[in-house]
Amino acid sequence: MEAAPPLFSFGVITDIQYADAEDGYDFEGCRRRYYRQSLQLLRDAVEAWAAEKPPLAFVLQLGDSIDGLNAGGGTAEAALERVLEVLGRLPVPVHHAWGNHELYNFSRARLLRSSLHGSAAASAGTPAACQAYHFSPAARFRVVVLDAYDLSILGREPGSPRYQESLRLLREKNPNDNLNNPEGLEEPRFVEFNGGFSQAQLDWFNEVLKFSDENQEKVVVMGHLPIHPEASNAVCLAWNYEDALSVIHSHQCVVCFLAGHLHDGGYCLDSHGVHHVTLAAIIETPPESNAFGTIYVYEDKMILRGRGRISDRIMTF
Ligand code: ZN
Repeated sequence: MEAAPPLFSFGVITDIQYADAEDGYDFEGCRRRYYRQSLQLLRDAVEAWAAEKPPLAFVLQLGDSIDGLNAGGGTAEAALERVLEVLGRLPVPVHHAWGNHELYNFSRARLLRSSLHGSAAASAGTPAACQAYHFSPAARFRVVVLDAYDLSILGREPGSPRYQESLRLLREKNPNDNLNNPEGLEEPRFVEFNGGFSQAQLDWFNEVLKFSDENQEKVVVMGHLPIHPEASNAVCLAWNYEDALSVIHSHQCVVCFLAGHLHDGGYCLDSHGVHHVTLAAIIETPPESNAFGTIYVYEDKMILRGRGRISDRIMTF
């Protein structure tokens, strides 16, 4: 750790996927999912964050806070309440990305009225009915929250134009009966459990980064889905990840892109010097370990200190 104190620091965590259910396995049946234990790992993370001095400025929850299992059991509201109660023990704001599991449990209309929709999201110019917003935690720094399911058939009313547009795009790329099946696809990311960014959101994102460039800000971007193939596998990427990447690459200000969704995590430093950190999931972390981190921000770098399955990273800028 550096001798000088950081300008500020913040916590990161993803894919908690809490459910009051017996342990299960992933689609392939090989990786254990600790549905109940995930809440305990979250408690441990919150306790560790609360003990940090100087205190954290905020926490980023990168999506899939509760598991889709809750939808079938009618326990979505109760499960979300328990997760938010634990996160609420920290006297700092928590910013949430929306993942596929939020959308298995809740409609967008419901999410927009929930605590998973930050008040900062109501800021002027933010794309409508979308979890995309930005805030400045300190002078010359900005955090941008992106909605990677803005184009998606999850959480949208089947009659809505956005649903129809998303379904058309998905069907064009994925002829499988089961739209969650990536087998045989040329672009295996075109599955129902992923999504993408609308043009309106990309335009808004471009304007935010333009402002940051003009004001010499450094920017952290977060979204549930990875947007770089080297920080993901071929399946878990955002549908139109190239569009988001090209917005980032047309500006100087972005230091890192933080994502979840890919349970083993990933990392790459791209050709434009942007760090892509895909965080490992809480849900597949055994009870004796953990998967969260703290990012310490300095004048010239950000240092990720990972706990458990998450590795340390130094991100200079
Ligand atoms: Zn996910």
